[in-house]
Amino acid sequence: MDEAQWILREAEKCLYCGFCEAVCPTLPLGPHRGYGPRGRVSIAAEAVTRGELGPEALASIYTCLTCGACTVKCPSAIPVADMVKAVRRLYASGRLRAPRAIKVKVVARAARR
Ligand code: SF4
Ligand code: SF4
Repeated sequence: MDEAQWILREAEKCLYCGFCEAVCPTLPLGPHRGYGPRGRVSIAAEAVTRGELGPEALASIYTCLTCGACTVKCPSAIPVADMVKAVRRLYASGRLRAPRAIKVKVVARAARR
């Protein structure tokens, strides 16, 4: 099973109970649930389904501390931190794309340095 399939399989176990959200250190700092474990599970699954990480999804995935506190509270023991790391690997290896607008911004920023 490849990493994308594994992410989808783990995401299917989510019960949307929200027990994980009480212990996530980044959720209170973000503007919405995408900055917590439940949101990250959904975003990871959507990213591999679409083959793309949009701006909000990138922010969600790269603000996770991969602390694993959420998994301890999760009745399905979903390994959110490992899913986040898998998404980062897929993105770094080019198997997940960023939308063109993000790439242009990154290149423009690099050119200013
Ligand atoms: S691993 Fe990520 S999603 Fe889970 S509690 Fe830590 S910061 Fe939140
Ligand atoms: S605790 Fe587990 S099953 Fe419940 S919403 Fe969070 S990730 Fe999903």
